[in-house]
Amino acid sequence: MTSLLKTFSCTDDYDPDSLPVERARQLILDTLQPVAGHERLPVHQALDRVLVEDVIAPFNVPAHDNSAMDGWAVRHADLAVSGETRLKNIGTAFAGRPCTAKVGAGETARIMTGAALPEGVDSVVVQEVVRVDGDAVIIPPGQRLEQHIRRAGEDLQAGKPALSAGKQLRPAELGIIASLGLAEVSLRRRVRVALFSTGDELCSVGTPLLSGAVYDSNRYTLWGMLTRLGCDVIDMGVVRDDPAALEAAFREAAGCADAIITSGGVSVGEADFIKQLMAQLGEVAFWKIAMKPGRPMAFGRIQPGGENDAGAWLFGLPGNPVAVMVTFYQFVRPAILKLAGVNPVPPFPSFPARCVDAMKKGRGRTEFQRGVLFQENGEWCVRPTGTQGSGILSSMARADCFIVLEPEREKVGAGETVQVQLMSGLV
Ligand code: AMP
Ligand code: MG
Repeated sequence: MTSLLKTFSCTDDYDPDSLPVERARQLILDTLQPVAGHERLPVHQALDRVLVEDVIAPFNVPAHDNSAMDGWAVRHADLAVSGETRLKNIGTAFAGRPCTAKVGAGETARIMTGAALPEGVDSVVVQEVVRVDGDAVIIPPGQRLEQHIRRAGEDLQAGKPALSAGKQLRPAELGIIASLGLAEVSLRRRVRVALFSTGDELCSVGTPLLSGAVYDSNRYTLWGMLTRLGCDVIDMGVVRDDPAALEAAFREAAGCADAIITSGGVSVGEADFIKQLMAQLGEVAFWKIAMKPGRPMAFGRIQPGGENDAGAWLFGLPGNPVAVMVTFYQFVRPAILKLAGVNPVPPFPSFPARCVDAMKKGRGRTEFQRGVLFQENGEWCVRPTGTQGSGILSSMARADCFIVLEPEREKVGAGETVQVQLMSGLV
């Protein structure tokens, strides 16, 4: 592997002590490749999974020209421009039954929605406007050529990709696969992610809270975020700030996962040995990202066995609970999607909204404040969730969006427009 750190430092504007958010995200995305390995699975097991190859339509969908309405199949040239036209009823074309009838000049056939068009027919007249008089069918004027007809292949064309490699399968895509008669699809294997929390102050749930300690919440938010992304999550628990325990944890994680996510241990106040250890076991960049919350972050590769060790990507996230979630959504989420083979990697939808409260803001960094969206007089508005400290996890629980304040922006006055990133329903 060419040196990761050398590659980074060769890019212009690379400054690990002040990295813009966009730049850090781009460096990560440019470095990662989708995991190797795929599997064929039944459509029922393919929801949210990622296609590893194009799905080529083996035939046209729809397979035949057919009617979009219940009505009467006609030859448009037979119809009078003004005044009614009397046509002779020669039978019925049903959906799902081969149609043998041929509609000749002056003739019509009753046709059901989805029934293949009889030969000679080029338009369908809806049944509600038609009068039937014995064998005669009376069509009013004003019918358009080709109306109420679905052409063969107007949805999917034989031989062309119906879905492209890199597509993450939602219900619509499952339906498309089924419409092609395919029972199985080739999917990239799930991304395996190992995670652990570091810190001597951490207590695990279900045990008494010792004096001066905090419960380890990051493992649960991380587990939830990774599970929502469709990863296989390996939860390795809490690892003490102890060199031997940490080294063992990194080695074990690198041996079984594509990516390792840790929380804590990368901030300035942390014992340096954690950073040293990360750097010794592989190649890791320690970034100070120009953002709040979430300034310190480590990214790199843990390869305890050296060059030939498959190893795992490392995302060393800060310890503060909100910083964990913000850095996860801004950097790890796109990274995991890239590893999972999603192409293109979708950002959160972002749009302007009117901020109804004033907010403080430091210069020179991107801030991700938490907000709640609502509509007022047809306009999207956002209200900050209150105290925005990086330990206030309840601000994340209340939020449905990030209010993203660009580096050059200073304080926000009530009523000013801000950019929001929608996460509700997406995370
Ligand atoms: P650190 O980055 O390790 O210096 O941690 C920063 C802050 O986040 C400290 O107040 C920690 O107690 C807190 N913290 C670290 N890890 C966790 C965790 N897993 N769950 C909850 N809080 C944590
Ligand atoms: Mg710590």
